Amino acid sequence: MDWHVNKGAKNCSCCQKLFEEEEEYFSALYDNAVAYTRKDLCLNCWDMKHDGDLFSYWKTKVQKKSEPVRQYANIEVFYDLFVRSESEDNASNKNFRYVLALYLMRKKVLTLKAINRENGDEFLVLQNSKEEKETRVLNPKLNQEGILAVKEEIGNLIGCSTQNGSQEAVKGGASAVASNGEKGH
Ligand SMILES: [Zn+2]
Repeated sequence: MDWHVNKGAKNCSCCQKLFEEEEEYFSALYDNAVAYTRKDLCLNCWDMKHDGDLFSYWKTKVQKKSEPVRQYANIEVFYDLFVRSESEDNASNKNFRYVLALYLMRKKVLTLKAINRENGDEFLVLQNSKEEKETRVLNPKLNQEGILAVKEEIGNLIGCSTQNGSQEAVKGGASAVASNGEKGH
């Protein structure tokens, strides 16, 4: 399973201006306690608007029409979400974190070391190869359908789909490019 990059937003969520070819913009996830919502903001609006309940963000660029399409989503974006999810404690976040962990295990960023059971709960003990540390993830005991639903939710937020070779992924439009600059709230 891989996440493929979908066609990005066509205009800024704030000023509505149309993104142009090769224009850089920010995709940001906001945590409103019930769900995460995503906004795409042009650089001008980003400077004014990126406070509030910002959970995670990444810089993206509208793809040049003649460029070959970047097919896969940038793992850094998923990793950043995973790391940030550690401090959140609501139910939907636990599902999120677990599914992100499954994906990062597949990508060999995380390695399963053990499974701990405590008071009827099951925790994955994972070695994080990026930071040389152990991370624990609660297994929310989702069934296959539940996992698929969470995958779809994450995909919608990030602008990727798990549909192999879907039209959207083939057409491209925007690619998730993690910013090298400062990150955080
Ligand atoms: Zn704008």
